[in-house]
Amino acid sequence: MSADPKTAQTMRALRKPARGVHALVLERVPTPRPRPGWVVLDVRLAGICGTDLHIVADEFASWPPVTLGHEFTGTIRELGDGVAGWTVGQRVVCEPHALACGRCHLCRRGLAHLCSEKRSPGWGIDGGFAEQVTVPADLLHRVPETVDDVAAGLVEPLSIVITAFERTPVPPGGTVLVLGPGPIGILAVLTATAAGAGQVVLVGRPSSAGRLALAADLGVEVWDSSRCDVPDTAYARTGGRGMDLVVETSGAAEAIAEGIGALRRQGRMCVLGVPGPEPIRVPWGLAMNRAADIAFSLSSSWSSWDAALALLARGAFDPRPLASVFALTEWEQAFAATRTRSVVKAMLDPTS
Ligand SMILES: [Zn+2]
Ligand SMILES: [Zn+2]
Repeated sequence: MSADPKTAQTMRALRKPARGVHALVLERVPTPRPRPGWVVLDVRLAGICGTDLHIVADEFASWPPVTLGHEFTGTIRELGDGVAGWTVGQRVVCEPHALACGRCHLCRRGLAHLCSEKRSPGWGIDGGFAEQVTVPADLLHRVPETVDDVAAGLVEPLSIVITAFERTPVPPGGTVLVLGPGPIGILAVLTATAAGAGQVVLVGRPSSAGRLALAADLGVEVWDSSRCDVPDTAYARTGGRGMDLVVETSGAAEAIAEGIGALRRQGRMCVLGVPGPEPIRVPWGLAMNRAADIAFSLSSSWSSWDAALALLARGAFDPRPLASVFALTEWEQAFAATRTRSVVKAMLDPTS
């Protein structure tokens, strides 16, 4: 393909134009060219994440002007020099850990996803809310035949969940309480169930009634925390033991306190929910009383991506009911639906 700038093509991309501009713009930009070791993808679907709302509001660091979108699936369109092991047309998903330094103590421990130098597509470099995106080939994972595009579009949040379970494993036959019925919470419930938990409960508030109803339709046990005392109910439902594992995905102070209260002694809590800017009061004495193991999980490990694709490939559960697909041109409706939580996971389709 010609790289002549005079004949270079353009494409639509949904971009944050500048810091301090709390709005996005759908505009035409040049199509990307792959640098050595990178590929260009035709984007098939790209999910909108809560983090995208924070990026728009300058509550999460970004390097504008930049195309948003860090959760995407697509097909390989073009290979950069030196890319081996991949061919044009393959269906892939991509870890968003671009430009990790490879030299720091975290990269050398295999924790490139936590490298402070990384600049993910979607906030550090141009991302997937566009017809094409360019990414490093060594961050790609091949999508199996049996996993369709909508399911593949959910691999990034599913990898976030699996990374949490790498830190705090699901107890076989044990009890798991998940706080927050967003995409991460619902995927955590589905994964914990598939991984062999005995009893799994999802807790939410009336402000997320639609999401709780969707989870209930998927066969998930849901509790409305405005109608029950969560720790008391957890103890009553576990023969007075308390929960083996609590997964906190809400970032809300009340839910964090409820989760600690619901733990059994020496129970484990894994925290995924991103809090707001204000410090959160934590019932530290209660955590002490529970002798709790509390772990925080950030981003997604390399191994979690393969595990997510393996779970989906064997049909461990069907995550597709979580997705609502909008054309890229309908991005304002998709962002509004994310903001009001009227959908679980909005995805943009740049092909329509
Ligand atoms: Zn995200
Ligand atoms: Zn590093």
